[in-house]
Amino acid sequence: MRIDTLDVVRCPYCGGRLELVESLFHRRTAAGIHDGILGCHCCIFPVVDGIPVLHLQPGATAARDQIQAGRPDLARRIMFGLDDEPLAAAFDRVAASDTATFRETVEALGPGFEGGYFLYRFSDPTFVVAEAVVRAVAGTAARGGRTIDICGGSGHLTRTLVELSPVPPILADLYYAKVWLARRFTAPGCEPVCCDGNAPMPFARGAFTFAMCVDAFMYIWTKRQFVGEMERLIDTPGHAGGGGAILIGHTHNERTWSPSHGQPLAPEGYAALFERLEPRLFGERGLFADVVDRGALDLSRRDAKEALDGDPALTIVASRDAAVFARHSIAPPRRSGELRLNPLYRPEPDAAAAGRVRLQLRFPDDDYEQEYGACRRYLPDAVTVSRGALAALTDVSGAAPADARAELNELVRRRVVLDLPARYY
Ligand SMILES: [Zn+2]
Repeated sequence: MRIDTLDVVRCPYCGGRLELVESLFHRRTAAGIHDGILGCHCCIFPVVDGIPVLHLQPGATAARDQIQAGRPDLARRIMFGLDDEPLAAAFDRVAASDTATFRETVEALGPGFEGGYFLYRFSDPTFVVAEAVVRAVAGTAARGGRTIDICGGSGHLTRTLVELSPVPPILADLYYAKVWLARRFTAPGCEPVCCDGNAPMPFARGAFTFAMCVDAFMYIWTKRQFVGEMERLIDTPGHAGGGGAILIGHTHNERTWSPSHGQPLAPEGYAALFERLEPRLFGERGLFADVVDRGALDLSRRDAKEALDGDPALTIVASRDAAVFARHSIAPPRRSGELRLNPLYRPEPDAAAAGRVRLQLRFPDDDYEQEYGACRRYLPDAVTVSRGALAALTDVSGAAPADARAELNELVRRRVVLDLPARYY
């Protein structure tokens, strides 16, 4: 972890500042802490492979004991939940490799790690909507301040914050393995913190100008505390009259059924959680149509009660910055990683035309199709492309013929080709 992150982290229980305990085992440089123990007024927490673990669940205390015993390698195994020796040793080898991909590293975590759909996240409908909302809201209200993705998992949306934030955004999640993967692969440049979303958040008041939680809030039990904490995190003195924003994206609706339902609230229940800011709720169907059909996200709309009640997923935005609640044009995808074929597509030689390849949409399984089948609204069933366009994918010289590049740009627009993190699959 970066030393300057100590300026914004606080003990979740006593609220005190955290300092490296120099008298205990640690490995650090001038700029960062690799392993060690952080202490506050009330307790001590481990930093494991550069990630502070700011909760007291059983794995965290066992990892802390291993750090104190000078065994950071064993502390990391505990945080990854690897208690099987051969599996742990195999994972250590993959983790030490400079060439292992995100997919291989997830697989090395074993079948107990719910890795299944992470690979397809960058084109799923929830992501497509959330990414547009994040760009619109954080792009307007964050104003160069620090941002945070709470319960951000393996960091697919944190990657967008890295683009938008001049200071490294914080990615907070209970699952160590996910934030570790995010820092390594999905969102390099983010600052991962392992903490419990059902506890007070381990950060200082006003440390952020933008706080978000997407596709996770329905699983939080202490929702009132969580929203109160988000309000506290963006309570920046300099922004008292203006900026700062909270985004709760893709949270399920108690009035409708959805897969992996969680413990959702009804729309007015969500609205009532806010004490300091007045939230606006949006049905995700309207936002989806904005992104897919209209090319602009209209946050000036006020969805009717019937629209909110009937929508399986809601997006909640709270900000005093009026510019947030406007129409935001959707910029073409930015290129920050490498262009790769969407892993939902399988290339097959086209029997009808030499030199052309047929890309066929194939879902990993029926459950994926049931939950994310709305991606058919923008992902073509099949598309035939020239071998030249596919060759242009891996061409880093920029010397690919203009027609191949034009074809490739069209595939990017249709999300058949994605801008993916390096070594993603
Ligand atoms: Zn404390």
